[in-house]
Amino acid sequence: MKSLSQKVDLKNLSPPELLEFLGPFGKERYRSVQILRWLYQQGVESFDQMTNLSKRLRQEISQVSFISALHPLCIEKATDGTKKFLFQLEDGHRIESVLIPDKTRLTLCISTQAGCAFACRFCLTGKTGWKRDLVVSEILNQILAVRKTLPEEKAITNIVMMGMGEPLANFKNTMKATALMAHPDAFKFSSRKITLSTVGLLPELTTLSKEKIPFRLAISLNASNEETRTYLMPVNRRYPLARLLALCKDFRLPPRIRITFEYVLVDGINDSPLDAKRLLRILKGIPCKINLIPLNEAPEIPFRKPSEEKVRRFQEILMGGGLTVIVRNSRGQEISAACGQLRGKYSMCDRGEFETASDTSSILNATD
Ligand code: SAH
Repeated sequence: MKSLSQKVDLKNLSPPELLEFLGPFGKERYRSVQILRWLYQQGVESFDQMTNLSKRLRQEISQVSFISALHPLCIEKATDGTKKFLFQLEDGHRIESVLIPDKTRLTLCISTQAGCAFACRFCLTGKTGWKRDLVVSEILNQILAVRKTLPEEKAITNIVMMGMGEPLANFKNTMKATALMAHPDAFKFSSRKITLSTVGLLPELTTLSKEKIPFRLAISLNASNEETRTYLMPVNRRYPLARLLALCKDFRLPPRIRITFEYVLVDGINDSPLDAKRLLRILKGIPCKINLIPLNEAPEIPFRKPSEEKVRRFQEILMGGGLTVIVRNSRGQEISAACGQLRGKYSMCDRGEFETASDTSSILNATD
């Protein structure tokens, strides 16, 4: 019998890899389809639950593989309905996922790395530095763990990779995970309901520009000229705005799909009418829409968010130029669940208070 560390985590396998893995057992192809469905549609956490597989096959597979799972260490709930899930990984690193209910949507924001290496000046996650990449199962288990807490009639409708980390810096694992999110025998999300957000890593974006991708693409732009972008996002030194935009012009997207540009509005830094006009100019010729995100403030961040008036003015200039522009007022701010606020720190969890505070509305015991 193999120890757990020698066994294969089934959720790290792509569908073709799973098929290959099952090969030595001499099993029919449809077994891998059955297993995919058990893992991702039913969300089972033990082989015993895979009742349409023979006892013998279950036994054989369980000797060489295992089914990993994540269990939230704690769940915090904001008054606007947003919930933040804290997970502790095998090696002690912590990651977070955020569930955001909307009128018709239930969006789950997931992490792809523990920490982040890109150190954007306005982002708290960036202050913690990079810890490590998540493996495929750790990316997917966030979805399964959150789904398990939902009542049966509630389904997650959208997945956004906008939690901790830079998805394209963990390219291979993130691509495998997105393939499973979209796979008809796994999560079955339509590719329109999955969004990957990136700081704009050119080599990986170049690869993606030539492929048929099963997700929407969001790019964190955050400035309209090189100087300001480099100041806010050091990655711009390596992958400058001009090259990023040139690539976006070449991107082969499916019909009616546009790139989303995210633009965090930072008071006095990138929010002037001049910035808006320049943004209009540089985005000419790129089928896109804009998400404006007024900065989420934090004591550790040396910036403020602009006044509502300034935000409106910025939006109007862009819309005047024919762009689709949405202002994303962040959700879950009081529990630090908003964009750029995830860093795996829970004072209440760490003090162990969540176990006794399960009856309060702001923090729930994970088993509730
Ligand atoms: N690394 C990826 C995925 C993280 S997404 C990326 O940067 O795109 C997080 C989004 O939140 C990004 O658009 C980022 O620019 C934005 N963000 C980060 N810190 C923020 C803050 N303090 N206020 C508002 N938005 C922020």
